[in-house]
Amino acid sequence: MQVPPLENRDAAAMCDLYGEIARCTACPLFRTRTNAVPGEGPVPCDVMLVGEGPGVEEDRTGRPFVGKAGHLLRTLLREEAGLDPEAVYITNVVKCRSSVLQNGRTVDAPPPLSARQACEPFLTLQQMLVRPRVTIVVGSVASRQLLGRPIGEVAGTLVVYPDGRKYLPILHPAAALRSDEAMDDLRCQVRGIGMWLDNNPDVRRRAEDYARV
Ligand code: SF4
Repeated sequence: MQVPPLENRDAAAMCDLYGEIARCTACPLFRTRTNAVPGEGPVPCDVMLVGEGPGVEEDRTGRPFVGKAGHLLRTLLREEAGLDPEAVYITNVVKCRSSVLQNGRTVDAPPPLSARQACEPFLTLQQMLVRPRVTIVVGSVASRQLLGRPIGEVAGTLVVYPDGRKYLPILHPAAALRSDEAMDDLRCQVRGIGMWLDNNPDVRRRAEDYARV
């Protein structure tokens, strides 16, 4: 995390929020986390990305989308959308890893509703500080949380609300790692993000101008 310039109050407020998230005990996921994963990127930022929650690698490092699925998504954003992931504010619906014991191994699991509800105020505050002009919604949990709709209904479309909020939902990269068909679909959806950005060049350009936190 870089220290934001003093005049960037939004970035400073985001740093304070990271501290709150690191200390949070509002749902049971705090008991098993190694690190909370609040998010990272420019603040404010024209492009925000919201996923489900941290996996094992994110829990280990404290950074979002750095495991196998995250690496795939970052690569696709670069190659298919021409979008530098470093110029995107990246976070998740929940900030602590959700996992279950399966055949003696701890594996990632979708975050329970109680965790999603307890964590929601953090995401709302992040949206207020980041003030995105468009939000990339990654996977079914984020789609349900932000759009109230299953990802299968909206993936690859532009969702615009009457108040001007814009969302670009896509499949989760973890699904693409399990199925060639989902990989083709995700690649196509990320290309669609690139096309939207090409039609809104000021968004792509301005995202790189802000302090990262
Ligand atoms: Fe707090 Fe969210 Fe972590 Fe639950 S998942 S402990 S609400 S930061």
